[in-house]
Amino acid sequence: MDVYGLLGNPVEHSLSPPMHEAAYAELGIDARYVTFEPDADAGARAVESAATLGIAGLNVTIPFKQQVLEAVDPTPLAERIGAVNTVDFSTSPPTGYNTDAAGVVRSFTHHGVELTGEAVVVGAGGAGRAVAFALADEGLTVHIANRTEAKAHDLAAAVAASHPAGESGAQGHGLDALSALVPEADLLVNATSVGMEEDRSPVPADALHADIAVLDAVYSPIETRLLADAAAAGATTIDGAWMLLFQGVEAFERWTGRDAPVDEMNEALRTRV
Ligand code: NAP
Repeated sequence: MDVYGLLGNPVEHSLSPPMHEAAYAELGIDARYVTFEPDADAGARAVESAATLGIAGLNVTIPFKQQVLEAVDPTPLAERIGAVNTVDFSTSPPTGYNTDAAGVVRSFTHHGVELTGEAVVVGAGGAGRAVAFALADEGLTVHIANRTEAKAHDLAAAVAASHPAGESGAQGHGLDALSALVPEADLLVNATSVGMEEDRSPVPADALHADIAVLDAVYSPIETRLLADAAAAGATTIDGAWMLLFQGVEAFERWTGRDAPVDEMNEALRTRV
């Protein structure tokens, strides 16, 4: 039996175990998915211990996504983002992936959204970094707006530096720029925690329009204020459970080399969010 798991603190409300175990059941894979909650500074040591114990794969969440970098061989994308959320122990040292990036891209393509034009990413924390690199790698021009504006400029500079001039652009802004940026944008991603367990949106409602696709990384509640405002404006809306699903789908496929049973994983998730 293979053992997979989630490294985080806290992890008790995680939806990853039922999502992955639904995939094992559907494909007849002899595996279990469990949660691990080490001390908040013990991420790298936990990965080393997992390797010793013969664990097959780990997802990694707050507060360990940066810490585990030193215990893995990160992919170039994970290294650029500066965070790992999936560890594959079939290599030595273990390989560190960032599947949040693919999770965002696959959420849009699953909904028939073309990945072209201008994107606005709200937030420059861990999720914002993954989203900004992912969309720039797809060739979009990326505007990053963040409460702490300096972080948006730093992230935009890092994204722009990893793309040859002309292929893609990235610019940093404060949140006050959203009312001018959003009316011109094709895609919008909220990668802040604004809207989590609160009826608040980081984006002015009157800036939203029918020609924009809006993904909210927040999935509690599942319909955030931002998504309600976007739906009212006639926009395409994608909730945060899709991003959670597709980062898990991508991790499953890296670990097993098999196509994930997306519908079964989605159903396991949707009955619990
Ligand atoms: P993080 O690294 O702590 O970053 C938090 C971000 O939110 C920063 O940009 C921060 O701005 C901003 N922020 C926090 N409070 C704010 C406020 N009151 N007003 C404006 N901006 C505020 O967290 P993270 O890991 O990036 O996660 C961000 C959100 O994405 C969380 O809700 C998380 O659950 C969600 N997420 C979802 C998925 C998924 O699969 N659906 C995956 C990853 C994350 P400053 O820089 O100014 O502090």
